[in-house]
Amino acid sequence: MVASPSIHTCSVSSRTSQPEGSVDTGPITLAELHAKKLADIQGIGEKREADLRAVEVHNVLDLVMYYPRRWVDRTQECRVSDLVAGAMALVVVDVLSVDRRTTRNRRSMVTVRVGDGTGKFTLTFFNQPWRAKQLYAGLTISVWGKPDTYRGVLQMTNPVVDLIGDRTGRIVPIYPQSGDKGVKTWEMAKWVEIALKKCVKRGVSDPLPDELRRKYDLMSRFEAMRTIHLPASLGDVEVARRRLAFDELLRVQTYLVREKKRIEQSARGIEHSNRGVFVRQFVENLAFPLTNAQRRVIDEVTADMAGPVPMNRLLQGDVGSGKTVVAVATLLTAVEGGYQGVLMAPTEVLAEQHFAGVTRLLDGLVVKDPESLFGNRPIRVELLTNRVTGEQRRNVLAGLADGSVDIAIGTHALIQKGVEFASLGAVVVDEQHRFGVDQRAQLRELSDIRPDALVMTATPIPRTAALTLFGDLDVSVLDEMPPGRTPIVTHAVAGEPEVEAMWAAVRDAVGRGDQAYVVCPLIEESEKLEVASAEATFAELSGGALAGLRLGLLHGRMKSAEKDAVMESFRRGEIDALVATTVIEVGVDVPNATQMVILDADRFGIAQLHQLRGRVGRGKKASSCWLVTGLSDDELIAEMKPRIEALVATTDGFELAEVDLQLRGEGTIMDKRQSGGNDDLKLASLKRDRDLIEAAREVAIELVGNDTTLDKHPEIRDEVALFIESHGGEDYVVRN
Ligand code: ADP
Ligand code: MG
Repeated sequence: MVASPSIHTCSVSSRTSQPEGSVDTGPITLAELHAKKLADIQGIGEKREADLRAVEVHNVLDLVMYYPRRWVDRTQECRVSDLVAGAMALVVVDVLSVDRRTTRNRRSMVTVRVGDGTGKFTLTFFNQPWRAKQLYAGLTISVWGKPDTYRGVLQMTNPVVDLIGDRTGRIVPIYPQSGDKGVKTWEMAKWVEIALKKCVKRGVSDPLPDELRRKYDLMSRFEAMRTIHLPASLGDVEVARRRLAFDELLRVQTYLVREKKRIEQSARGIEHSNRGVFVRQFVENLAFPLTNAQRRVIDEVTADMAGPVPMNRLLQGDVGSGKTVVAVATLLTAVEGGYQGVLMAPTEVLAEQHFAGVTRLLDGLVVKDPESLFGNRPIRVELLTNRVTGEQRRNVLAGLADGSVDIAIGTHALIQKGVEFASLGAVVVDEQHRFGVDQRAQLRELSDIRPDALVMTATPIPRTAALTLFGDLDVSVLDEMPPGRTPIVTHAVAGEPEVEAMWAAVRDAVGRGDQAYVVCPLIEESEKLEVASAEATFAELSGGALAGLRLGLLHGRMKSAEKDAVMESFRRGEIDALVATTVIEVGVDVPNATQMVILDADRFGIAQLHQLRGRVGRGKKASSCWLVTGLSDDELIAEMKPRIEALVATTDGFELAEVDLQLRGEGTIMDKRQSGGNDDLKLASLKRDRDLIEAAREVAIELVGNDTTLDKHPEIRDEVALFIESHGGEDYVVRN
């Protein structure tokens, strides 16, 4: 760690056990900074306060946590006279004049004449009309780009420009700016500096015990705060960022670990401590031995269920890893003790498929029934979706209420008002990623005693991300595929000859008695357009590439009964190729289908392509997946290529999830939680900071221990309250 001359070390070791009343003398806590008004900072008046509010800076804490977007390293700077065409360079120059016009092909063009004492040159910006407002004569800017010569004159096209004002110093922080008005980066830098100077006397407290700081090689908090804004070198920035990112992650993990402990301590669960006879019987009846992973996860689940604490478990398992067997074992563990089990799927089709499958798997199983002649009766499994109506529905509802239905399989219809259970013991939710937050909340309220909950997802999430997103759940992973599968061969297809060869291969497969899916281009803007595109694709294929084959069409706007009819004839082999939208993404199981063609594959994300591909390769026959891309745009190709290459290279969903995370960032897995503007994680990245996430988890577990009041770590408790609870920390918690 390098300390710049302007950074004084300060004592931060004596803050934890402060006597009351001396609050103002020890190191400053984040809570104190939070309470400090911006008006205390020299230069911030009412007008500036309003501008700062616009960028969510409301107090001094927000100010010092308003981190630079980048840093300009002025030690790397050169003079205008040193610029050489073709060599990237950083120069700091004054703006001399600005000119805006429109080119012949109606592109906007802003040219800016700039210079320093040694020479002048021109910046040219295409399609950035706002530059004409941003830049004006007299302004000092740093310019990073590659000079070239145009008609004998030195210029740079679309360089990176930062307004640095008259700031000197070796490393200049550049703060995010909001459009053309509002706060300038150098003003921000000045205020942050003033705020940090005000802290020097007392120092900023560090809630992390010294020994943990050493263990994880983390800089002190105050040093990190100063370094991130005023680094002596760019290398220092990363050291500081790590420390501050760790703090963010520690707050999240402390919150999650404590929530988990709280649930465990408070909620009343059911101790399903039976002898496991049902599960054993069920497993013995299976046509195949369990995989080791299935065995392990079933043990984890039954151990959880036997305990007094309600189970809260996430089961991750790739498509085809055999989650259904685990789900059934979970339900049976409840049923053996006289409780009911529920299996919820996100769609009616999936619920029906599960119902058919589970009924088959449980054929012949009997449960105790003192009222019957032989003291037992066959296990009763019922389906409940919105398609179950009339007499049938009344029957199922009555059976759920009186306990004669042992297992109910269905959609969210199962948790609607008016559905009562005699003794709900276990809930399994399939394909968790399709379940809304409200539905999870409803689930929680199903019963006074909390049933054990298993949430299954086929979307693998890298472990560190799971720790952050589902940190209050226990996680089981089915990381082993059942044997006897022929791996799917994936091809990237681009250009007319390759497309023709693909259709030929599909026709060959159909000739051998196989079946095919053709997934139509995804049109996110509207289902209507998507249906139109599916119909067009259907027409095109039946008159062209797949003429003569028996084609079916399936899309989201068809009536349920129509969809069923199509799926059923596909399943019976009466359709050779099913042209479909992404409605087939989840759960559809037709082992004879071996060809998956995905048109405009570039419109789909890795996870979705992986799910779609999982629809083939479900039987013994060799399967192919064809990813068709019609890219002409270089940028798109550059963006898509690694995705397609990853899919061609592996069928391992966890590996793909990692690739996805690396390529696209957290947005892929954090979806709403993140896009909801949650900036509890400003510096930490699920992508880069895996080690920090693991470390934060360990530390949180150690700090919380069995003490959910966090009495021994009041400052961390206060920070969790300040940063997470005040933002409605529910964002981090998935409870079922
Ligand atoms: P998932 O829901 O995880 O995608 P399923 O539970 O639908 O997977 O299982 C996929 C297929 O694999 C089913 O046909 C199932 O019968 C079969 N299967 C499950 N476990 C095993 C196993 N241990 N050995 C062989 N086949 C299995
Ligand atoms: Mg499944």
